[in-house]
Amino acid sequence: MTTPPARFPDASPRRQCGTCDLCCRLPSIDWEEYPELEKAPDVPCRHLVVGTGCRIHPDRPMHCATFQCLWLMGFGPDDLKPDRIGGFFDATDAGALILLTDKDRPDPRTIPAVATFIRDWTKRRGAELIVYRGGREVPADRPDAPRGRPPAPPPRDRRPPPRDPRG
Ligand code: SF4
Ligand code: SF4
Repeated sequence: MTTPPARFPDASPRRQCGTCDLCCRLPSIDWEEYPELEKAPDVPCRHLVVGTGCRIHPDRPMHCATFQCLWLMGFGPDDLKPDRIGGFFDATDAGALILLTDKDRPDPRTIPAVATFIRDWTKRRGAELIVYRGGREVPADRPDAPRGRPPAPPPRDRRPPPRDPRG
């Protein structure tokens, strides 16, 4: 898997990567032009500072700067933001849907909105789904059983508790 990752790409004004860094962690990298970036899947890029972003952002490779996951391109509802669901979608030129999941989070396919997105995409395009978890391809029709509660949104997305009107 050589899906080019990105960090804070200059993308659609409607959607922003924010603190998401999944495409700098989940895919493998083996670009001839940037041998120093080679990495296995499911490990952070050497230039990723977790919680801060890419330390070489102004000089990042063009592959990084141009990559957009499907959510960043505007596909699917806002709720499918990759760091909320624990994975991101990409697609092949032929339309096959690719889902890279974070193995440390519950499988995003157990989230109803994700399952609906997958069903609509594959049906409309007659496309297959390819799923990676823990750096390897896993059966596309068999999500991991949910572990406990559904994935929590990242802290920065949590709304503050309502104020106590008495005080
Ligand atoms: S996975 Fe998508 S939203 Fe997350 S950093 Fe990459 S392009 Fe941005
Ligand atoms: S060089 Fe920067 S943008 Fe590219 S994968 Fe590494 S951390 Fe992400």
